[in-house]
Amino acid sequence: MFIDVAKIKIKAGDGGDGAVAFHREKYVASGGPDGGDGGRGGSIVFQVDDNLSTLADFRYKRKYAAQRGENGRGGRCAGKSAPDLVIRVPRGTLVKDAETGRLLADLSDDEPKVIAKGGRGGWGNTHFATPTRQTPRFAKPGTPGEELEVQLELKLLADVGLVGFPNVGKSTLVSVVSEAKPNIANYHFTTLTPVLGVVRMGEGSSFVMADIPGLIEGAWQGVGLGHQFLRHVERCRLLVHVVDVSGSEGRDPREDFRIINEELKKFDPELARRPMLVAGNKCDLTDDETVEDFRRYVEAQGYDFFPIMAPIREGVDALLNKIRERLAQLPPILHYEAEPAALTPAEELQRGAVEITDQDGVYFVKAPWLYKIMGTVDFDDSESLGYFQRVLIETGVIDALREAGCQEGDTVDLYDLEFDFVE
Ligand code: GDP
Ligand code: MG
Repeated sequence: MFIDVAKIKIKAGDGGDGAVAFHREKYVASGGPDGGDGGRGGSIVFQVDDNLSTLADFRYKRKYAAQRGENGRGGRCAGKSAPDLVIRVPRGTLVKDAETGRLLADLSDDEPKVIAKGGRGGWGNTHFATPTRQTPRFAKPGTPGEELEVQLELKLLADVGLVGFPNVGKSTLVSVVSEAKPNIANYHFTTLTPVLGVVRMGEGSSFVMADIPGLIEGAWQGVGLGHQFLRHVERCRLLVHVVDVSGSEGRDPREDFRIINEELKKFDPELARRPMLVAGNKCDLTDDETVEDFRRYVEAQGYDFFPIMAPIREGVDALLNKIRERLAQLPPILHYEAEPAALTPAEELQRGAVEITDQDGVYFVKAPWLYKIMGTVDFDDSESLGYFQRVLIETGVIDALREAGCQEGDTVDLYDLEFDFVE
């Protein structure tokens, strides 16, 4: 079965904790702090793998976790960072935040994409020594690794998508113009998996043609299944609508043409406006007059028409030449841009639990919900920084610090952020 959607949970590794340790040597009474830093947690990275063509692997394994960074040790020994966990997906996979539907990445090129960042290692107590605090008995814990549920959606990358009723000859066409070998048979359930074929037309003008299961043949299998396959034509730059012009199965070719166009429109009105060529197949099973009749019908609607006999390649080269000509004028295959995270207005945020520990005048704040918000804030941007300050006030973090005894000038340690408390 062709699986092109999946939902998985991913968890990047936490950063290792910094160490509290003091230098020890024979005959030396008490050495200075020498606790090392924790290592980085592994990130979750997505990467295209062209050996994969479906998301089937994700049906069974639904949880992915990268390792934690090692804790720091005495003797200024830093903990080892954990390796990233690489999740391989077929080309054209979209990664979305399952909770919000936000697009995180389009895995269409070879560049690996970090989807959940590993936590940073905490500082060892070495970092906290000051002239007035020579024996810091605390270190910083590692920050947590990001954790989320993601929705994976495969949206194939092809220049040309074939659409049409089942059994009209779409698979046959792909098989004669490319090296792809889709199943061809005279019944309606043959193509259940989109097949991509590379059509080689000499230097610089090869293109990818997708044999998409017929809408109707899919729809017969259950609600929405026909539409499910339409997702895979969404990125196609050009559609070729294949019609059995002979009506060999007792249907009227004009009616076929109209119904499929209607289905495209229902799925996505934008798809119905996609440039389209019409191929009238099975010309051997009818007379010239019927073919010319159909030609007039589609040309009147502004489409270019090509009569073909797919199995013997008759008329196919004229079609391919036209495809090449049109593709040269069309924009490249659509790649989707990742969407920025939407910030919830500070005033709308709930107060959350905050844990504060005072260690020698450094106030450590622990609040996992706040850490999540921090992931969406750009601390180099003054506007975002202003937003974050409002968040701290509105959610009660500042009040909690005050209650814990934090005063003007004290150091506040908030995961990767460190600042002086100002009233
Ligand atoms: P698809 O369901 O649209 O992919 O259709 P297929 O390519 O599987 O073809 C369905 C049936 O029609 C097969 O038995 C093919 O051999 C046959 N067929 C395809 N093209 C032609 C053609 O031009 N003429 C004739 N007579 N049969 C064809
Ligand atoms: Mg087929």
